[in-house]
Amino acid sequence: EAAPSTVLDARALKAWPLPEIADDADKEERGAILVVAGSREIPGAALLAATAALRAGAGKLVIATAASVASGMALAMPEARVIALPETAAGGLGVEGLARLQDVAPGCAAAVVGPGLMDEEGSGEFVAGLLPWLAHCTVVLDALAMDAAGRTSPFAQPVLLTPHAGEMAHLSGRGKKEIAADPQRAALDAALGWNAVVALKGATTVIATPDGRLWTHRAGEAGLATSGSGDTLAGIIGGLAARGATPEQACAWGIVLHATAGARLASAGPLGFLARELPAEVPAALLELSR
Ligand code: AMP
Ligand code: MG
Repeated sequence: EAAPSTVLDARALKAWPLPEIADDADKEERGAILVVAGSREIPGAALLAATAALRAGAGKLVIATAASVASGMALAMPEARVIALPETAAGGLGVEGLARLQDVAPGCAAAVVGPGLMDEEGSGEFVAGLLPWLAHCTVVLDALAMDAAGRTSPFAQPVLLTPHAGEMAHLSGRGKKEIAADPQRAALDAALGWNAVVALKGATTVIATPDGRLWTHRAGEAGLATSGSGDTLAGIIGGLAARGATPEQACAWGIVLHATAGARLASAGPLGFLARELPAEVPAALLELSR
């Protein structure tokens, strides 16, 4: 029997305001976001997630990324502290890099791990080793980092996963057809089984929580289905968590903000806007949704 699902839209968020930021709050109070992302061949995903996190209101930014792209990333993102991690032969992150994050992890209020990572095996081990150091904060696992769900779940800490249907199929061992036939069931089973908030992404996105709640959001913009789009979504959600939202609130607000940012860009033309353009729309989208 299908669980009741709440429609997630701008109206639903009105009744669920984000934690207020005092006028005299400094950046520490809005929280530091740690973005563990990017690899030799996909460095831009880290920039997309990191930019989105700051645009969603995170106070400070630390990026941890593959050594070969770290200095370029630091120049492209002047707002960030960038930590270079040793790479595996396959160009991904490996457990050798973990120690570099031991000092940084305690100071972070939220983390986004996964966009643009390579090397499933090495990255999976890396993420499993990193999670215990981030037990005090919300961790968004995206892309390859979600493979940690297979190793580490049920999670003993606040974790949020953002699979699209293909990733959900891979993670759950179900067929894509079965997931498409009942996305609510697929998201809920994953949330309960992994003890994580799960956003099953698509034209319709379903959020499920480990305590059995469900929301369904229908996005209007096919243009949002574009390379890098999910990386910006993960960043927005992480940024909201850094500034104090609970995992499920960050997830719900992040999904509507991402769609609203897409709708703003689509007003100039429905297709062809870029993922890198989404973050700049987030502050205005936040204002639109908070009014
Ligand atoms: P990813 O595949 O990780 O880049 O994520 C794709 C993003 O685009 C997710 O936020 C999806 O919800 C969104 N998306 C995918 N297809 C559509 C669509 N047809 N309309 C609106 N949003 C979509
Ligand atoms: Mg993705």
